[in-house]
Amino acid sequence: MSATIFHEDLLLRLSNREYTNWIKAGQCLRILAQGLQPFIDTEMRYFHEDLINQNSMLRRPCEKSCRPSGNKLLGACRVCSEWQRVIQTHQRQPQNTINWDNCSPASWRTSHWEVAKAFMPRGQGRVRGADQFDASALLNLINSCGRFHSVDPKPVREVIRYRNELMHSSDFLVRDEWMNHYDKALRNLMLQFGKVPPMATAGQQIKQMLRADLSIHINGVDEMDSDHIVTDLVLGEISADSIVQWEAELLQKRLQELKEEMEEMDDARALSAEELKDLGGFFETNKDLSERFSSELQNVNLSRKQE
Ligand SMILES: [Zn+2]
Repeated sequence: MSATIFHEDLLLRLSNREYTNWIKAGQCLRILAQGLQPFIDTEMRYFHEDLINQNSMLRRPCEKSCRPSGNKLLGACRVCSEWQRVIQTHQRQPQNTINWDNCSPASWRTSHWEVAKAFMPRGQGRVRGADQFDASALLNLINSCGRFHSVDPKPVREVIRYRNELMHSSDFLVRDEWMNHYDKALRNLMLQFGKVPPMATAGQQIKQMLRADLSIHINGVDEMDSDHIVTDLVLGEISADSIVQWEAELLQKRLQELKEEMEEMDDARALSAEELKDLGGFFETNKDLSERFSSELQNVNLSRKQE
């Protein structure tokens, strides 16, 4: 392999196995979401068709551009009230909140994804299009929406739990032991979708990802300046560029989520602020990341100062 120029901090991160575990685990969630998307798109399309065919009221347009306020949809028109009632009757987990603020009620008639959003975690309001929903959104939909009654919710919730642990990890390090449990949880989930072709592919890709060794082994180091290093790297079949890309996407996702939590969830605000501090600290100690995310970090700092 030819010599590559790397930022010193990046090299240090990628030579930490537990950090690359964190990236790998995040990448598995992406693969999972890609596998789930076509299946859920089809299922929700049928679900939406069935609802509309069985209930003539739902075929009518919204009468007054109804919009949720906070997480409530109060004083909706007759049509949207009927949609609300119907959505509630299909809630698989009656103790779960329905997130009305994810939805544009006027689009329920025409968009099956707009109906799906009611069953997803908060923060999906701006998401458009099937390929934009992440693993958390899709898994929560399966757990909550009656359309998926044939899928056992237990393995679904187990993966949601691991996903939350991963995304809320304060040091972005994941031990091998955790990875083994995570692997098992993913395999149990996959068993639920044995006959769905994109999920079979996703299952294979997840297996490969979990087996891959992303950590960088440095052969020869030739210092360039204080921040950049020219080195011969030994990598597996995965290119360093891909790993850097996955890392950036995962950190971006974490930052985005924390920003949304700070805006929306009053009760969890203190916790989010704490996690945002951890993430900020991580960026600070990694100069390449603080440069890469400088504008995003500035936005966060500004919004926090305004409080
Ligand atoms: Zn309406």
